[in-house]
Amino acid sequence: MDKVYLTWWQVDRAIFALAEELRKNFMPDVIVGVARGGLIPAVRLSHILGDAEVKVIDVKFYKGIDERMEKPVVTIPLHGSLEGKRVVIVDDVSDTGKTLEVVIEEVKKAGASEVKVACLSMKPWTKVVPDFYVFRTDKWIVFPWEEFPVVVRE
Ligand code: 5GP
Repeated sequence: MDKVYLTWWQVDRAIFALAEELRKNFMPDVIVGVARGGLIPAVRLSHILGDAEVKVIDVKFYKGIDERMEKPVVTIPLHGSLEGKRVVIVDDVSDTGKTLEVVIEEVKKAGASEVKVACLSMKPWTKVVPDFYVFRTDKWIVFPWEEFPVVVRE
């Protein structure tokens, strides 16, 4: 699968763009960051949006690049209630959309009154198109916080 490499600068620009749209359209009470990929964007968004509360959920689904388990499993559940809260779920990318499907369900179960999804990117085939996203790609994205492969010349 082809890869696309993003820089910190590109990601930060994308987060600022998301923040601007959230400020105009949906100021959240709580940001739910999906570990691990959604955590850095979630924390950054929280600071830009004037310290909105951040909660974490962890869902395991991937074993490697484009290699998935049968279905996503919640490994760190949401802590506490989201009763009556406006919640934005933040992740790096909506690929199959199965992770977000599970997270949306969990956030609703926790009592959120309104739920929106914001991602840096989405794949054209996803079944959960985020309410807010910055770009679409059919490539495997390598984010700046991930490992970059090093070529060692023999
Ligand atoms: P989904 O459940 O939508 O298939 O996948 C969601 C999660 O898988 C994302 O939060 C992300 O952590 C990981 N993932 C899916 N596609 C990519 C990708 O292209 N690049 C990276 N780095 N992670 C991905």
